[in-house]
Amino acid sequence: MEKNYPLQLLSTWRIGGPAEAVYWPETVEDLSSVWRRAQEAEIPVRLIGRGSNVLFPDEGLPGITLVTTSLRGISWGDHEVRVEAGYTLARLAQEAGERGWSGLEFARGIPGSVGGAIMMNAGAHGDEMASCILSITALWADGSIKKLERTDFEFAYRFCSLRGQAWVLEAQLKFSPGERDRILQAMKENLTKRTANQPLEEPNAGSVFRNPPGDSAGRLIEAAGWKGKCIGGAKVSEKHANFIVNTGKAMSKDVLALIEAIVLDVQLKYGITLQTEVESILTGNRGVKAKEDIEEHKSIR
Ligand SMILES: Cc1cc2nc3c(=O)[nH]c(=O)nc-3n(C[C@H](O)[C@H](O)[C@H](O)COP(=O)(O)OP(=O)(O)OC[C@H]3O[C@@H](n4cnc5c(N)ncnc54)[C@H](O)[C@@H]3O)c2cc1C
Repeated sequence: MEKNYPLQLLSTWRIGGPAEAVYWPETVEDLSSVWRRAQEAEIPVRLIGRGSNVLFPDEGLPGITLVTTSLRGISWGDHEVRVEAGYTLARLAQEAGERGWSGLEFARGIPGSVGGAIMMNAGAHGDEMASCILSITALWADGSIKKLERTDFEFAYRFCSLRGQAWVLEAQLKFSPGERDRILQAMKENLTKRTANQPLEEPNAGSVFRNPPGDSAGRLIEAAGWKGKCIGGAKVSEKHANFIVNTGKAMSKDVLALIEAIVLDVQLKYGITLQTEVESILTGNRGVKAKEDIEEHKSIR
């Protein structure tokens, strides 16, 4: 357990004050036991993966922040894999591709964990996590660990119905047989497109806003004249208007102010209210018991 740990080291945005305590469980049993003890002692506890879709507060976080990145167990079957929540999604995509298994080509450039990608229903290039999930095993609010089949929960655009209800511990994913070279080529092309269109050289958290139905958040933000605009150290990327980059010393409050200003301006100019895709992790308990808290803060605004 690390005390007083800089949250900025846990976020791809490189933003955030100190966490009171950070712990990287190495087994599922370890994770559930820390969670149980924290619940008993009424210590706030929350869980993150690779921090590629979160904005941590400048004032830091009380209690325990659990990070899944050491939960990396994997077992390969016949066009199926059982994988723990902290496994890197992009690595899984690459390894499946090397085997000639198709299904995760879209995921090669997404820098999240398997658990985070399931909770966000991460997607790109017209595909998403939902299409390859067979089942998940999760820790529930009553402390039980249960397996759910794919038909027992729902996915929608960047949405999973388990959000706020459970922590994903492991998942079973299915693939289709494919041609190794074609799969690897598709992933390479996806990566090339990302390098061309996304500001990967500066700290960011991917797309800040969800695309409104039938439109693109990036197009609207660019049309409203926000490309290159800054508040403090946070800047709307010149390369992709739906990315906010940290130019060096961005604070959480800078990002939030920029988000608020963009939402207001796009609303005034085009009558469309943008919704955030990134998660703002505020203070308090973000554990599986904190459903109301998660509902309340699902969107940053
Ligand atoms: C350069 C870049 C490009 C990106 N491109 C894409 C893209 O193309 N498509 C896309 O969808 N996203 C994209 N993202 C966003 C991000 O990578 C995905 O949303 C990713 O799936 C988040 O995973 P994570 O492990 O980083 O989650 P985190 O950021 O750590 O957490 C996100 C949320 O999920 C919760 N969570 C994490 N793990 C678990 C778990 N095991 N159980 C329950 N809840 C959990 C956290 O509490 C938090 O609420 C991009 C980000 C970056 C930086």
